[in-house]
Amino acid sequence: MRPKILAPLFVPIEHFNGIGPKLSLWIKSLCGSCALDVLWHLPSGINDRPLLKTKPIIPQLGTLLVEITAHKIPRTRKLPCIISGNSALGLVEIIFFHYHPSLLAKKLAVGEKVWISGRFSTEQDIIKISHPDYMENALFKIPQHEVVYPLKAGANGKIIHKIIEQIIPTLPDLPEEIDPVILKERGWPSWQQAIKIMHFPQTQEDLRAQQSAHERLAFDELLTNQIALHLTRRYNHQKPGQALLFKNQLKLDLPFQLTSAQQKCLQEIRNDMSSNECMLRLLQGDVGSGKTIVALLAALQAIENKTQVAFLAPTDILARQHFEKIKNLCKNLPVNIGLLTSHEKGKIRQEILSNLAQGYIDLLIGTHAILEQNVVFKNLGFAIIDEQHRFGVKQRLSLANKEQGVNLLFMTATPIPRTLALTAYGDMDISILNEKPKGRQPIDTRVIPLTQVETVISHLKSLSSQVYWVCPLVEESEESDLMAAQKRYKSLQKIYGDQVGLIHGKMKADEKKEAMDKFIAGQTKILVSTTVIEVGVDVPSAGVMIVEHAERFGLASLHQLRGRVGRGQDKAICLLLHARLSETGHKRLQILRDFDDGFKIAEADLRLRGAGEILGIRQSGLPLFHLANIEKHADLLSLANNHAQQILSQDPHLTTPHGQAIKNMLYLFQKDTVINLLNAG
Ligand code: ADP
Ligand code: MG
Repeated sequence: MRPKILAPLFVPIEHFNGIGPKLSLWIKSLCGSCALDVLWHLPSGINDRPLLKTKPIIPQLGTLLVEITAHKIPRTRKLPCIISGNSALGLVEIIFFHYHPSLLAKKLAVGEKVWISGRFSTEQDIIKISHPDYMENALFKIPQHEVVYPLKAGANGKIIHKIIEQIIPTLPDLPEEIDPVILKERGWPSWQQAIKIMHFPQTQEDLRAQQSAHERLAFDELLTNQIALHLTRRYNHQKPGQALLFKNQLKLDLPFQLTSAQQKCLQEIRNDMSSNECMLRLLQGDVGSGKTIVALLAALQAIENKTQVAFLAPTDILARQHFEKIKNLCKNLPVNIGLLTSHEKGKIRQEILSNLAQGYIDLLIGTHAILEQNVVFKNLGFAIIDEQHRFGVKQRLSLANKEQGVNLLFMTATPIPRTLALTAYGDMDISILNEKPKGRQPIDTRVIPLTQVETVISHLKSLSSQVYWVCPLVEESEESDLMAAQKRYKSLQKIYGDQVGLIHGKMKADEKKEAMDKFIAGQTKILVSTTVIEVGVDVPSAGVMIVEHAERFGLASLHQLRGRVGRGQDKAICLLLHARLSETGHKRLQILRDFDDGFKIAEADLRLRGAGEILGIRQSGLPLFHLANIEKHADLLSLANNHAQQILSQDPHLTTPHGQAIKNMLYLFQKDTVINLLNAG
């Protein structure tokens, strides 16, 4: 139920004066259907309307006192009407194309002195203005400053003003939901004031306070976002899960020691699994930081407790690779491992499904195929989702729903900046692998123009290690990606013959497997590929990564691609071949050359491209904010996160008066869904 005090904010726009059916449609497409939506359509700037002191050389917004001397009304309405006058700056002509003669006669009567405001220009020494914004007999009736709204083409900001003018007097005086200490420290106005300052600045002081007013409104939004995520997390945790205790019965013989970051993350996961709340954790670690092993060790803990484990990978290749590696690592353990991708069909598939349903398979590794309805586990207790950003939010959830109380571990190598992680993954606990295994070689990254591609090709001869050659993304279409890859494959074949392999997304699973196996075995030296190899592939003998048209890739993807090399003993090289670049384009590639830390790269990428681009917002589940700007208000986000935690620890169900104030805000931004979680939790 919507709190009563909020009612004025939900008045439909049709109810405002002057908003007919046509305008209301336009406003709906611009901002939304009720008063609140219009309030959230914040101005993009301020127009000054100063008194003109000199003849405008270029068109200029301003106000001028004009004494009307003559009306020149043409015989036909097709021609403009010109009204002449005198001003302190010289002759003035006011021009109207569509006009009401009676209105002109009244407002601009000959002999009257009228304040005219609008965009002035000068032509042949005469000051001209067409269709003034204001024609008034007193200066005070014309605003000196005016907010400007971001509008679509052809639209008129005055309409927004018209609605805002009517909303302002009805604004509710909401009880304050922000901690008074924060409010004071930041010098923020109240909610009502902030809205007025943004939409209806009256004084110079109001103008100066706009930034702080915007911050305040952004904070309201970020705070409710964080509270919503905390509530979701609480709700998820409260779903009872199986406690999967660490028994140390299934011991893995590792050829290396875990890094201390791996140990720390593993411990966090172990603790979650042992409790009887459901785990919902994200393991975030740069490419090559060794996430798979951590996940496998956690999987063994689940298997010790006689539950089954699902391990999801986004591609066939990756699933198969995990399968081979994990089978090998577990070869001395009493653990049954199955593989299920779209490649397993017919009898083989039936056998896997029946073994799974009877509980003979302990660990099922696979792709989306695992999510299909007819894949039934006997007792699924733990699921791992590798490269989780490759799965849609829906797919992520469908795993949780497959069985009640499944512990979930998401893994991602897309290093998103902390600020974004807070909003994208705020409903999960996060473990961070911030250390790479010892002995990794730094990767020599070079940015090279495509014009030198032939030189690069002939240099490959002298290299001892294997080479990935990644072909460009072409207009986001798989067809044309494929053509580019095939073309490059043929041109390389001319020189290197059998030593060149090709792999792309359109190949059948067994063809892909064959191409990959040949490369792993060292039978092919150069593997030409579309971006299918982007995620997760691990071939230590590959030491060179070449990316063609690197400028078409996101930095995160390039970083992932580069992470495919530098896993063996040899010094690794990454060549970024690029077409003509803009300055920003060049800067982007330089970031990659200069940094090898995924987090730093992600932060730089964020600054250059903005949040929306980083991870295809919708896919990642990152909310789009109305008022907050994630780059501009990054510091507010962590403040909001802390504040949200504090509020919920003191008042878990938001029942105090302060809680009620929070609920109002939650309602404004998050609507019913979250309020329901409050009651459920
Ligand atoms: P990612 O985090 O990118 O998924 P992987 O799990 O594929 O990384 O690990 C990359 C490589 O590092 C693998 O070959 C893995 O066996 C190896 N590896 C993992 N942990 C360690 C470690 N502590 N010491 C040495 N090598 C390790
Ligand atoms: Mg991986």
